[in-house]
Amino acid sequence: MYCRNCGKELVPGAELCINCGVRPLNANKFCQNCGAETRPEQEVCLKCGTLLKREEKHEPLGRKNKLIALLLCLFVAPLGVHRYYMGRVGSGVAMLLLYFSIFVFLFMGSMRSFPEPVWIGLLVFGAFALVGYMVWWIIDLISIATGKMKDGEGREFGKAG
Ligand SMILES: [Zn+2]
Ligand SMILES: [Zn+2]
Repeated sequence: MYCRNCGKELVPGAELCINCGVRPLNANKFCQNCGAETRPEQEVCLKCGTLLKREEKHEPLGRKNKLIALLLCLFVAPLGVHRYYMGRVGSGVAMLLLYFSIFVFLFMGSMRSFPEPVWIGLLVFGAFALVGYMVWWIIDLISIATGKMKDGEGREFGKAG
């Protein structure tokens, strides 16, 4: 067996090429059977007639279920639960704090126990927090529904999801 990246001879079934460090079948420059040079689009080696093997590079899939994440985002998004589920605890907590800040600002503003510019400012902050939260929520919903949201380790949803 030869490395398909650098053409060096390897022990059969080698996981990695000891010469270039690439997975031996994860390239297309040499024949894995005789070590002859090949072109990337070639299917068969012209020298020995072997079918050229190709190992597709697979991104490891995560184990998070898309439906669960979507339901969590639909029903308990204010607490950031869908983000904890995805292993993104930091931004989950941020979402929770943002959500509560809406009520804190609106409640303190509506009491009007502060001088006028202050309570108006609090109401404005509350409104901004509300809009910010809604936008964030919609973005999260869309990125989960389209499978774009990655888990905390940067992996996509598992196959089942
Ligand atoms: Zn190699
Ligand atoms: Zn060959």
